[in-house]
Amino acid sequence: MAINKEWHLRNKMPTNATIEQQYKWHFEHNKNCNCHPGYPKKLIEEMKKKGKN
Ligand SMILES: [Zn+2]
Repeated sequence: MAINKEWHLRNKMPTNATIEQQYKWHFEHNKNCNCHPGYPKKLIEEMKKKGKN
């Protein structure tokens, strides 16, 4: 599991990020960094509730 420290420094999760912002952050994160692949369970649940799967 490699961490792309530079990417993390340049891409901070916004404070009070919306579900969409979080999803987008993780989408970009998965492409650029391997420190925690995939999406948090809570985020997946929220996306399901919104019917965006
Ligand atoms: Zn990472």
